[in-house]
Amino acid sequence: MALLGALMLVAAVVLFIVMPVAKGQHASLERKDHEVTESEARRRVTLLALRDVEYDYHTGKLDEADYLALRKELSAEALAALEAADADPEAPALDLEAEIAAVRAGLEAGTTCASCGHRNPEGSRFCASCGQALPAREATPSS
Ligand SMILES: [Zn+2]
Repeated sequence: MALLGALMLVAAVVLFIVMPVAKGQHASLERKDHEVTESEARRRVTLLALRDVEYDYHTGKLDEADYLALRKELSAEALAALEAADADPEAPALDLEAEIAAVRAGLEAGTTCASCGHRNPEGSRFCASCGQALPAREATPSS
């Protein structure tokens, strides 16, 4: 009797594991358009690091020698990442006109930070990136 119980348990576990595979529920390995490529991620990280170095230097946390060395290193890295992003055939082509239109629309809607350019979610009161207060807007009735 115990053997039968154990067999049923094993069958249930196997079924539980196999069912999603049999139904074809598996993660897609293909990149979706809104996902970031590796080179794009590298570019962003390097640019953020550069910004931090600038900030640290101007607030006196970094002395000039360290600042210059770090800036040189990060600039080279950012440039390499940019070139890699350009050479990446999977990377979506950079559409400057669309980018500019999106920033303008964001500024008009009060979601793009006028201070740092970060695009904040709809209804934000402060920039998620730099903390700058975003322009107050007429409260739109939420639907
Ligand atoms: Zn900001």
